Amino acid sequence: RLSMRLERVATHVPAGARLADIGSDHGYLPVALLNRGAISAAVAGEVALTPFHAAERTVRENELEQQVCVRLADGLAAIEAEDGITAVSMCGMGGETIRDILERGKARLSGQERLILQPNGGEQPLRLWLMEHDYRIVSEEVLRENRFDYEIIVAERTGPVKYTAEELYFGPLQMQARSPAFLLKWQRLLGKKQKTLNNFERAQKGVSEEKWQEVARQIRWISTLL
Ligand code: SAM
Repeated sequence: RLSMRLERVATHVPAGARLADIGSDHGYLPVALLNRGAISAAVAGEVALTPFHAAERTVRENELEQQVCVRLADGLAAIEAEDGITAVSMCGMGGETIRDILERGKARLSGQERLILQPNGGEQPLRLWLMEHDYRIVSEEVLRENRFDYEIIVAERTGPVKYTAEELYFGPLQMQARSPAFLLKWQRLLGKKQKTLNNFERAQKGVSEEKWQEVARQIRWISTLL
């Protein structure tokens, strides 16, 4: 069984996809989707040996060796042109890490793939990369599991797209939809940011003007949003 987080990610994988799950760890996502007949083939990429072996074991135990190719590779280097990948998932990593993997491996993308990204923090730099590379955000959600707020960002390369600084910070579609989970996340963050600013004020020295301004601006944005 998948966690609720990966279950939500799974709903964004198109039926019949050829999925590359990068940073697959145990390979749970591609194996669950294949067992359900939801996708037709998968690559599970892992950069570290222990999770790579764990993914191999999951695939073997499910007798899916014909459908899932487990590869020890850094990021998108796991993808080969012959795989005919139509969807790429990257879940449970920091947004900056996901962005760096996309940047380093962009030559491996045809531009036809749907990206299904589940960053743990660092959503803003990730959205910025997507915008700068002509990816439109086609779906977004916030969900809470085990006292963590998780975001899912689904993107497709459609051509030039422009998001405002606030849209990059909050997520353009989430700003519109204002789901309860989204609003709760930002209520919680507002409290944290206010504490940070108070600490800055007490510490005074050692905090750059720039950093102070950034947090103050975020507080303004969040207050306006809520
Ligand atoms: N995707 C799974 C999930 O969401 O439950 C596993 C998440 S786990 C926290 C992150 C995994 O990404 C780790 O197994 C790590 O080895 C892998 N990883 C980190 N950087 C990577 C990279 N550059 N290429 C491939 N895998 C990477």
